[in-house]
Amino acid sequence: MAQAELHLHLEGSIDPDTIQLLDPGLTREEIGARYEFEDFAGFIACFRWIAQRLRGPEDYALVTRRLLERLEREDILYAEITLSAGVVLWKEQDLAAIWDAVRDESDRSPVEVFWNLDSIRQFGPDLAMQVAEFAATRVGEGVISIGIGGDEIAGPAKWFRDVFRFSKDSGLRLTAHAGETAGPESIWAALEIGAERIGHGIRAVDDPSLMAYLRDRQIPCEVSIVSNLRTGAVRSLDEHPIRRLFDAGVPVVLNTDDPAIFGTTLAGEFALVRERFGFTDEELATVAENAWKFRFAH
Ligand SMILES: [Zn+2]
Repeated sequence: MAQAELHLHLEGSIDPDTIQLLDPGLTREEIGARYEFEDFAGFIACFRWIAQRLRGPEDYALVTRRLLERLEREDILYAEITLSAGVVLWKEQDLAAIWDAVRDESDRSPVEVFWNLDSIRQFGPDLAMQVAEFAATRVGEGVISIGIGGDEIAGPAKWFRDVFRFSKDSGLRLTAHAGETAGPESIWAALEIGAERIGHGIRAVDDPSLMAYLRDRQIPCEVSIVSNLRTGAVRSLDEHPIRRLFDAGVPVVLNTDDPAIFGTTLAGEFALVRERFGFTDEELATVAENAWKFRFAH
């Protein structure tokens, strides 16, 4: 059955081969070393380094094309992909031109693609508002939502209240990374400003009332097992709370997050959940269907 994926970063889908194509001056060893990290801060540094290799619209087009070709091969026929628009602005590049390049590639692909324009929490609300204002001009042209990611402590959700209100009023859907490296209070804060889906959200497991809230209001957590392991969000696979979240009735969606950085695939995530967390075929089908059920575009 064709799959859908809702939490997937364009920049995190860029593999070392593509980096070498973008920057032939780099050796394989130099590139490989950049993909090594020990913790969340190291992951952020890796992500930023990859994003900095993208020099303009042509590079963004290339990496978009490669990602969409892979999704098609893997029978992932619906995707909501995050473009780190905040990083584009931070690099002082032309967001409109880069968006046009990305959208043209999306239009050519048989994969149904919608875009989440993301800002980095610790870059602050002003930059996020610039992203939102741009996203608002592209509603109905492929941009479906706005998001925040990055450091939950250094960039608390409450900073983005106006950004989220403006975005909602502009017809954009709202998603936020939360409860990844910070606790349930960070998820509550994201809900407080209107987040409709939670990126990761795994720390909801520490607050039964929050799990009940997510269950009752059918607000999904976009879970990525390998990501959580590689960034140190969980110390070991055994500690991953996906089984407890699922059993508590929290809607769970499975995702790769940054597949090339973490060395994962959507099929791999499903296999892991089957093998390590004892999900039955029926439970796996529920998780797979959740991606279609909770997609923003209907
Ligand atoms: Zn993410």
